[in-house]
Amino acid sequence: MTVKVAKSAGFCFGVSRAVNIVEKLLDEGKSVYTLGPIIHNKHMVDELASRGVKIAEVPDDVKNGETLVIRSHGVPEEVTERIGNLHIDCRNATCPFVLKIHKIVKEHSENGEVILIAGDESHPEIQGIIGHCRGEYHSFTNCDEFSEMMDKFPDLKHKAVCVVAQTTFDTLLWKKILKMLQKLCTNAKIFDTICSATTDRQSEAEILAADSDLMIVIGGKHSSNTNKLYTICKDKCRETYLIESAEELPLDAVKNARKVGVTAGASTPESIIKEVLVTMTEEIKNPEEIKTEPSEFEALLEESFKNYNTDGRVKGVVESITPTEVRVDVGRKQTGIIPLNELSNDPNAKPEDLVKIGDELDLIIMKTNDQEGTVLLSKKRFDAQKGWDTIVKAEEEKSIITGVVTEIVKGGLIAVSNGVRVFIPASQATAARGESLDGLLKQEVSFRIIEVTKQRRRAVGSIRSVLNDERKKKAEEFWANAEVGKKYTGVVKSLTSYGAFVDIGGIDGMIHISELSWSRIKHPSEVVNVGDTVEVYIKALDAEKGKISLGYKKDEDNPWEILKNQYPVGTECEVEIVGLTQFGAFAKIIPGIDGLIHVSQISNDRVEKPEDVLSVGQKVSVKITAIDFDKKRISLSMKALLIDETAEEEE
Ligand code: SF4
Repeated sequence: MTVKVAKSAGFCFGVSRAVNIVEKLLDEGKSVYTLGPIIHNKHMVDELASRGVKIAEVPDDVKNGETLVIRSHGVPEEVTERIGNLHIDCRNATCPFVLKIHKIVKEHSENGEVILIAGDESHPEIQGIIGHCRGEYHSFTNCDEFSEMMDKFPDLKHKAVCVVAQTTFDTLLWKKILKMLQKLCTNAKIFDTICSATTDRQSEAEILAADSDLMIVIGGKHSSNTNKLYTICKDKCRETYLIESAEELPLDAVKNARKVGVTAGASTPESIIKEVLVTMTEEIKNPEEIKTEPSEFEALLEESFKNYNTDGRVKGVVESITPTEVRVDVGRKQTGIIPLNELSNDPNAKPEDLVKIGDELDLIIMKTNDQEGTVLLSKKRFDAQKGWDTIVKAEEEKSIITGVVTEIVKGGLIAVSNGVRVFIPASQATAARGESLDGLLKQEVSFRIIEVTKQRRRAVGSIRSVLNDERKKKAEEFWANAEVGKKYTGVVKSLTSYGAFVDIGGIDGMIHISELSWSRIKHPSEVVNVGDTVEVYIKALDAEKGKISLGYKKDEDNPWEILKNQYPVGTECEVEIVGLTQFGAFAKIIPGIDGLIHVSQISNDRVEKPEDVLSVGQKVSVKITAIDFDKKRISLSMKALLIDETAEEEE
């Protein structure tokens, strides 16, 4: 079995340029929107989405401070005008070949010519082209539609006509339509705007398909150029399959094929092409399925990679450094070149600060150009790949890694670890649900990788997993050393109507409301608030139920102790009337202790009812005449002071 990969497979110049623009903006830390999906490839779009790229339907979706990228397909003129009016930061990644078509249709329609467009009117590229036409225009996708158009608008034969084609239009079909057109519209100005990348890709695919008994076309099912490739290949090779990823490979058909051809659409990333090839290798490695020596197959595969962009790694020794690139010796006949933007993620970094002549660098091959004798390399991507390997290993080993939180996003946060963006959902970002994430921004955090999607290079992390472990460890330590009476400094975490929960170092205990104060309180918030640091001690422990009862109020604050020490019988003091009954008045001596002034002890004169002479809130002087500590009763007398005064006067 042989496998041959088309040299032109994968990203074309325009798509590669657009994706590079988005990646560069991400590297600069920008919040990036693309106007529609950047390319018609779900895997690439998902990968960029996992790195934070959002899709805007219209320019108005983008806010100040965010950057909008116009994709390679281009947009109608009114859209660029709207972007200008909104004053939003915008990078125009419209492919220069598409911009050329915009210029042609604009100039010729301004001259009064009718614009005829060979292409699919629902495709964004054609919508962009139409949006630059100043007058009458018509579009068609095949010979029948062209004939219908000419029948419907017969005066087109006599009008000045300008014809352009979608950049990815089928070249054979274009030629057929031109033949028909030239017979009908003898004055038509024809601009062959089919991109050479498309022409090359299609003709190469056609030749390859004719020479293969199984043809694999890799690309997005909504991609116009991929679908055209599929049609061309299917015409030459009956066993042609259009797949979006390695998962869709028709493995049974592959195993039985002798000659397999592989091509890919302009928006297919090289990583997917390689994945497809590697999956085929792994399948063929099954001894029962081998039709040729494995080494021979692998050599062919290797050869395929050499001819085309690969994710292959290589070591290179720095030979020269300029402000824009670094040249390295990679032990091949080609010269290795690392452009500045592939050297580091830091846009301000200078090459001479990053590498020295003679340094050996680990690099990734991006593209080999045999004609120019160069091989395009990336150090930045190797570092990112290395970081990704660390992430994958961390997930396998369930180890803890660290990263810095760079963004709070919808549904969670992004932490960068080893150069890889890891999404941490809000539910996994803090110890308890609902806690604010704002405090984590720009902080270094420890987390575990709980999910990795290799194809999409998506990693999901959990800080909570680490916090739970820490908590568990602390709880074990606590129970090993806890004993009644032991004191702790804790932080009030929450309040309920019956008490306050206090974190005493990774484990929670509860102070019952009756333990918060010596006096009667209605709610714990009268004494403590969430966030307060409090001194507590263990009153009781229930290891089985994991319950810890904490004590808070102190003996020295016990009002009965204060009374005993500072208010013995005979003490004269000022008290506040707090309640009135028929038999006397209750008065507060100190917070938490009230005494009774019996009605007979209010005055030397007879008092019928206490409220005749006293009122709540009134402050009066009394003498403590008796204390019953067991029954917690205190007798007070106003009359005793009057008797004392009379005695003094008499004396
Ligand atoms: S196919 Fe051609 S025109 Fe279209 S984006 Fe690629 S390079 Fe540009």
